[in-house]
Amino acid sequence: MAELISLYSGSSGNCSVVRCGAGYLLVDMGKGVRVTTGALREAGLEAAGCGGILVTHAHSDHVKGLSTFLKRHPLPVYGAEDTLAALEDANLLPAGCPVRVLDPAAGAETDVAGFGVRAFPTSHDVPCVGYRITTPDGKTMAIATDLGTLTPAVHAALSGCALVALESNYDPYMLRNGPYPYYLRARIEGPRGHLSNDECSEKLLELVQEGCEKFALCHLSQENNTPPLALQTVFTTFGAGGVVPGRDCIVQAQRRSEVSPALEF
Ligand SMILES: [Zn+2]
Ligand SMILES: [Zn+2]
Repeated sequence: MAELISLYSGSSGNCSVVRCGAGYLLVDMGKGVRVTTGALREAGLEAAGCGGILVTHAHSDHVKGLSTFLKRHPLPVYGAEDTLAALEDANLLPAGCPVRVLDPAAGAETDVAGFGVRAFPTSHDVPCVGYRITTPDGKTMAIATDLGTLTPAVHAALSGCALVALESNYDPYMLRNGPYPYYLRARIEGPRGHLSNDECSEKLLELVQEGCEKFALCHLSQENNTPPLALQTVFTTFGAGGVVPGRDCIVQAQRRSEVSPALEF
């Protein structure tokens, strides 16, 4: 049995578990070690049982807790070369902690504790990747957060998965009428920023029509989105395409500061 468990998700911190039986991988760690360890315990997981940490990029909402966690648990860290170099430069990778480069351009699958992991490039304002993961029992999922645009490479990585975890960052109306200054708004809406609810839901409709049945909405903005709004956008888009959530698929908005219910795939 394979599961995605979001420990926390949003602009204030991101960390996900991809689990199969007793083994699991972490994707990112954007909150401190106490919060992360507590969330792992709540999910019934020991830190020591983690097979490795996959890092998407070096923004603090993805790596804030990494350094202290790795000092206590020297787990292997995986990421693109630029990202690992940025973490090294910032002294976030303790000595003695195994570091492995995954090349998002290569498209090759790397074995990480029995999981097949492939990084793929995403369009963000620092080097950034998503991950497509095949579990030891042969199930495939993909996770992509922090991307301003949905490229063919991203579609190829999400396509054919049993579960897709995709960013649904902001509602365009809330963003344009909210407190953010122009430059920040432009960054979020730009091609190297984040995905809106509409962009996310249109991609999910394509994927559900291709046969994907489980979706996690990730990285919701606190200021420019709400879980009901993100879900409603997906339901409206799906409805227009004749897709009924609950019957044809499951869609779950990931919680900001709490462990979300496990999504089996
Ligand atoms: Zn982020
Ligand atoms: Zn980011």
